Amino acid sequence: MLDNLTKRFSKIFKDIRGQSKLTEDNIKEALREVRLALLEADVALPIVKDFVNSVKERALGHEIADNLTPDQAFFGIVNQALIDLMGKENTSLNLSTTPPATILMAGLQGAGKTTTVGKLAKLIKDQDKKKKILVVSADVYRPAAIEQLKLLAEQVGVDFFPSNTTQQPVQIVRDAQNYAKKHFYDVLMVDTAGRLAIDIEMMIEIRAIHSAINPIETLFVIDAMLGQDAVNTAQAFNETLPLTGVVLTKMDGDARGGAALSVRQITGKPIKFIGVGEKINGLEPFYPDRIASRILG
Ligand code: GDP
Repeated sequence: MLDNLTKRFSKIFKDIRGQSKLTEDNIKEALREVRLALLEADVALPIVKDFVNSVKERALGHEIADNLTPDQAFFGIVNQALIDLMGKENTSLNLSTTPPATILMAGLQGAGKTTTVGKLAKLIKDQDKKKKILVVSADVYRPAAIEQLKLLAEQVGVDFFPSNTTQQPVQIVRDAQNYAKKHFYDVLMVDTAGRLAIDIEMMIEIRAIHSAINPIETLFVIDAMLGQDAVNTAQAFNETLPLTGVVLTKMDGDARGGAALSVRQITGKPIKFIGVGEKINGLEPFYPDRIASRILG
């Protein structure tokens, strides 16, 4: 997970070793390295600039505790800045509403929406076996996607609300929600169609779906392998929908870090989960401090 970034960062702190305090002069090289490491990780330039400035400000105004060397102090500052960039603390799923608590998944095709519906259903069920969960697919463009969700539902042991390619997405989700209400489901999870790139029709459609079902959670699913492209995608979804959180998938791969380090800043919404594998149990709550520790090695 983010191994290249870890490699880069491990070199940086050596630059300050042997100094007696943090000064503009002696952190210059380290800041340059931080900047390069983030650019190499494909983090968008404005975010890199803000980050480096924030580290510099913190470092220069820093009273170093007696027991810390300047490189340790600098490490602590970068660590805290990374945590702040990724959202400070874990934010969990909010299901506190009149049932069914409806969760809408949004994102590009291939981001991992359908897989995440299965994983999240399993996570919710693992926490409380009594929870009645219904899943539905509004992806009327790809019959394979509907079938994939059906198989996942069987695998996890939750109920599947059938849909097909002749139906209208908004009607499907309305029917599913009415069915869920009538049959006392606790949670309704709605999978939606994604396109390979942002297109206006897709945005209009998902907005209509959102209005029809008023979900308590609207999760934007994004592939961690995306770098700078993450900015445009996240911005477009954030402007279209009142997102409540982000799921960062494929963190088990060799993602460079661009999406992971940018998406919170771009959307202002918490990353709630990370996908760490293709298997059904490959989803974990997101803890910014743990990822920062990983990055810093
Ligand atoms: P959708 O088009 O957004 O519904 O995307 P899918 O759920 O169909 O996922 C696309 C591909 O990404 C599938 O091959 C998934 O197995 C894979 N995938 C999803 N999440 C993860 C993850 O966290 N790690 C890895 N390695 N693969 C994932």
